[in-house]
Amino acid sequence: MAERLHITTAIFYSNAPPHVGSAYEALAADAFARSRRRRLGRSNVTFLSGTDEHGDKIRRAAQAEGVPPRQFTDRLSAVFRRAWDGLNVSYDYFVRTTDPEHEKFVQQMLTRSQQRGDIYFKDYEGLYCVGCERFYTEKELLAGGLCPIHNAAVERISEGNYFLGLEKYRAQVIDHIKRNPDFIQPERYRNEALNMLAEPLADLCISRPKARLDWGIELPFDSNYVTYVWYDAFWAYLSEPASRDPAFATEVFPTTHHFIGKDILKTHAVYWPPMLLSAGLPLFRHLNVHGWVNFGGQRMSKSSGNVADPVSYEAAFGPDVLRYFLLREVVYGLDGDFSEPRLIERYNADLANDLGNFTSRVLSMAARYFGGELSCAPALTGDAEDAALASAFSELVERVDAQIQTLAFNRALETIWQALDAANKYIVQTAPFTLAKDQAKMPRVAQIMSNLTEALRVVGFALEPFMPVTSGRMLDLLQVDEAVAAAPYGQGLKAGHKVKPATPLFPRIDKSKMG
Ligand SMILES: [Zn+2]
Repeated sequence: MAERLHITTAIFYSNAPPHVGSAYEALAADAFARSRRRRLGRSNVTFLSGTDEHGDKIRRAAQAEGVPPRQFTDRLSAVFRRAWDGLNVSYDYFVRTTDPEHEKFVQQMLTRSQQRGDIYFKDYEGLYCVGCERFYTEKELLAGGLCPIHNAAVERISEGNYFLGLEKYRAQVIDHIKRNPDFIQPERYRNEALNMLAEPLADLCISRPKARLDWGIELPFDSNYVTYVWYDAFWAYLSEPASRDPAFATEVFPTTHHFIGKDILKTHAVYWPPMLLSAGLPLFRHLNVHGWVNFGGQRMSKSSGNVADPVSYEAAFGPDVLRYFLLREVVYGLDGDFSEPRLIERYNADLANDLGNFTSRVLSMAARYFGGELSCAPALTGDAEDAALASAFSELVERVDAQIQTLAFNRALETIWQALDAANKYIVQTAPFTLAKDQAKMPRVAQIMSNLTEALRVVGFALEPFMPVTSGRMLDLLQVDEAVAAAPYGQGLKAGHKVKPATPLFPRIDKSKMG
């Protein structure tokens, strides 16, 4: 059977629109998905995103707007979907936790755990934060009994609820993490997760009485209750593909790469694996944990008021610019910083100069000297310069994909830019514009132009996971089909191939004219 792969973003809580931080996660997962598709084949990779739409917080946000919760989440879910479409996030599934298929799947999983004897009912009194939608122990609260996340008073609530036993599975989860060192990566998060699992686990409250909250999925074994929003949302990682393909949960889901932020490490490392095991399902393959994208040095979040709309950057700077900036600038796993002046610097230096100028120089020279037609195939050896260029570009795509596979997105882009540097250096060293003044040297100019055009093709293809629109435009200027686009350096363009005249990819931004 062909190697399959399932990739997910978190299921975004749809009480507020996406910001640049949520976009970073979707873009990293998208670059990963695109890179794996070109290795494994389009149909062997499924990429899933979606919105988490139940719970108290959403019901309250809808109430504040004076609309029913469903109407509220219809609108916000569409905002997320449009944002991903605007950023060319190539999801195969966009799951809403209010979809009937999802709701049915969650009920099936609840039934499985209940039949296994992992779910029980008890009266419970606890300290509850509405913002977090969870109970806290006294120990976890700040001085004065305040929620550590919201810095606000919690409420004492007493009610009967259903619980899922987690402790039963703790040893098995620890064992799995120890036997699979890359289960949670980067490593610092693996260590954090093992620390969280070091103490016995309190059972997870998985219900809310309808008397208090009716915006949720009804428990299949007690119609007076809905399930807790966090229990519900995890299942969106597989509910829809599993509803269409009965083998998905057992055969494809174990290949899953989850991309998540470090703020939900605990829920994914401590609650999610026991939930799967209790439903009789295998675990996912990787939890890929990223840091926060700060905005002018401050954490960017829905509540902090410095929200930046990701799609607005697409409109302001052009397609792929935000994608390039975030994936080049942020080291996966660490916190990164987003700032518009820094984005403009990178735009001018990397995109307008290195990439844009190279593209227009090559295509302009090809047009000026040869009417856009290559008169020979690229050379791998011969002159020392040709050999150096060939070595900078040989297996470039393989090297880039290998770095993407280890989540080193920034290093993968550096690798492409090193090749671009080599190509720009090649132009300086071989000086085709000088040689072209001497008619006797035109055969050498032809060879240089073929080598450069071939290098441009490989860059265009290598960039696809990061900059799909730009990659498409470059390959269109070069007039290559999919098979030629993907060929190794030296085996793509042939003598007689025609390319289009240059059009600017990234016009320089004049900073003095920016508002
Ligand atoms: Zn809270």
